[in-house]
Amino acid sequence: MKTMKTSHCTNKRIALFPGSFDPFTRGHESIVMRALPLFDEIIIAIGVNINKQALTSMELRQKLIESAFRNEPKVKVVTYTGLTADVARLYGANFFLRGVRMIQDFENEMNMAEVNRELSGIETVLLYTLPEYSHISSSIVRELVKYEQDVSSYLPINIDKNLVPDHWIFKK
Ligand code: ADP
Repeated sequence: MKTMKTSHCTNKRIALFPGSFDPFTRGHESIVMRALPLFDEIIIAIGVNINKQALTSMELRQKLIESAFRNEPKVKVVTYTGLTADVARLYGANFFLRGVRMIQDFENEMNMAEVNRELSGIETVLLYTLPEYSHISSSIVRELVKYEQDVSSYLPINIDKNLVPDHWIFKK
C-alpha cells in the first residue's frame, strides 16, 4: 500500500522575488503582501544592477526591506550577485515572483521568465500591480530624491522610518 508523503518540507512553496529594489517601494511591498497567501516562504533577493546608478547601498536596502516585513515570518531578505537562477537553486526556491505594471514590464518579464525557465526549470508567477501603485517605480523615487522631494508616499507602508535617510522624508 502506498503511504502519503507527510513531510511538509518537501512540498514547501518557496518563491524568490529578485530585483534591484533601489529602493524597495510601496509597489514592491504590495506584490509581496498579495503573494503571501500563495507561498510558504518568500525570499526577497536584492541583486546588483550594473546598468542603474545606485541610490542606496546593498546593506541599507536590506535593512529597509527587513524593517518593512519585521512582522512577517514567511519573508526573508538576502543579497546576491550572479545568476538569479543559481540563487533560486541555492535557497531551494521553486517559483520566481515578479510584478507587472504596464505593457513594457510585461514584455521584459515574459523574456526573463522564459530564460529563467530554460536555465532552471523554475516557473515565474507574475502578479499585476494594484492600479494605485502602477505609477510607482524605484527610478522615480531615485529621481525625486535627487530633486530633494519627500518620497514617503512611495515607500513601503510598514517601513521603519527611523532607518530612512533624513533627506527622503521631511516629517518622520
Ligand atoms: P529589476 O531592476 O530587476 O527590474 P526592480 O527592483 O525594478 O528590479 O523591480 C522588481 C520587480 O518588481 C519587477 O518585476 C518589477 O516589474 C516589479 N515592480 C516594480 N515596481 C512595481 C509596482 N509599482 N507594482 C508592481 N510591481 C512592480
